[in-house]
Amino acid sequence: MTSTLPHKKAKALKPGSPRPAKELCSECGLCDTYYVHYVKEACAFLNQQIKELEEQSHSRSRNLDDSDELYFGVQQEMMAARKKEPIPGAQWTGIVSSIAIEMLENGIVEGVVCVQNTESDRFQPMPVIARTAEEILAARVNKPTLSPNLSVLEQIEQSGMKRLLVIGVGCQIQALRAVEKQLGLEKLYVLGTPCVDNVTRAGLQKFLETTSKSPETVVHYEFMQDFRVHFKHEDGSIEMVPFFGLKTNKLKDVFAPSCMSCFDYVNSLSDIVVGYMGAPFGWQWIVVRNERGKEMLDMVKDQIDTQPVMSQGNRQAAVQQSIPAYDKGVTLPMWAAKLMGVVIEKIGPKGLEYARFSIDSHFTRNYLYTKRNHPEKLEQHVPEFAKRIVEQYELPD
Ligand SMILES: Cc1cc2nc3c(=O)[nH]c(=O)nc-3n(C[C@H](O)[C@H](O)[C@H](O)COP(=O)(O)OP(=O)(O)OC[C@H]3O[C@@H](n4cnc5c(N)ncnc54)[C@H](O)[C@@H]3O)c2cc1C
Repeated sequence: MTSTLPHKKAKALKPGSPRPAKELCSECGLCDTYYVHYVKEACAFLNQQIKELEEQSHSRSRNLDDSDELYFGVQQEMMAARKKEPIPGAQWTGIVSSIAIEMLENGIVEGVVCVQNTESDRFQPMPVIARTAEEILAARVNKPTLSPNLSVLEQIEQSGMKRLLVIGVGCQIQALRAVEKQLGLEKLYVLGTPCVDNVTRAGLQKFLETTSKSPETVVHYEFMQDFRVHFKHEDGSIEMVPFFGLKTNKLKDVFAPSCMSCFDYVNSLSDIVVGYMGAPFGWQWIVVRNERGKEMLDMVKDQIDTQPVMSQGNRQAAVQQSIPAYDKGVTLPMWAAKLMGVVIEKIGPKGLEYARFSIDSHFTRNYLYTKRNHPEKLEQHVPEFAKRIVEQYELPD
């Protein structure tokens, strides 16, 4: 039982009005509801409390002396997986949508919080509480923009729903966990995805225009384990741009300030996480954090192939070199970027080591961003596990 009603309410903030987290707001949607009453404690950018919420969600916080838990959070098991029959149009093979459909169709939950897109714009997020498999499928594929998933929280209480599945990224789930006891639910399941470098809708446009040859036909993109951004276009063609060729000087202010100061890349508070970054190319990566996560994975066991996670290479020198390069906004000419991409793909980090490469690169960048732009927040805002990860590297002032 998670219910302790009645809870307190405050007036939801108007769209476009200033938010308590100011420029660090990730538009998670909490402030669009009467649960804004709890924002000072609940907001991931006003009150970092990952350790306490790990204890609440998984009955313990991560073991900082275990290198897998230090990086990937509380876990029962990790694996690589892919659907035997991928869902057409899903971001990867559709494991997220498949778990949600099974949970709903088997009556384990009455609704699923997920995010569809608006009719006029495939990348404009539209959070919903799905009650049919069709509505869940309509939410498949990433909306690579900040999305107010929690804006539907009032509807849960109004609907009288008691068993719910929420799909979301780290900042949304941190706020959700903080108000979980106020939602009047008997059972809450949380299915998370990793998330990094998110953007506003306007920022996304700038990213597409700066990076893709045909921004208007992009239907889907991902920063892949082969060190390239893969853009999928309407005609099914794939355009690949090496990370090292990104125009970092132009893109520096594209990512949302919330994402530049986020240290919850791997969605620490979800029951189960489904991403790709710890898996071989073409596979998804699953972290089961607790019994509810295991229950969710069991629902799709017969639909997926799995293999153990692997780890190869050594990321540390590459991360250390990339810190000043990113800081100075160095962009390589395309021929050199392509060459570097090919070399790194052959000898670079793979599997869990690639995931650590990505975490180290983002945490060091975000630590510097927070230190320079919000020095007063640094100590409280950066969780202990992230401090330990950042301490491995030499950072500029
Ligand atoms: C902005 C963003 C950045 C990501 N970055 C990484 C990364 O760096 N490394 C990594 O391993 N994985 C990352 N992921 C997760 C990964 O891209 C896939 O979403 C995940 O592997 C699930 O794939 P799938 O085919 O099973 O999902 P699908 O079956 O296609 O379902 C996707 C689900 O994601 C939800 N969703 C879509 N957009 C959003 C959003 N903006 N906010 C919250 N929920 C959303 C939808 O409700 C849908 O249920 C990211 C996801 C997002 C949304």
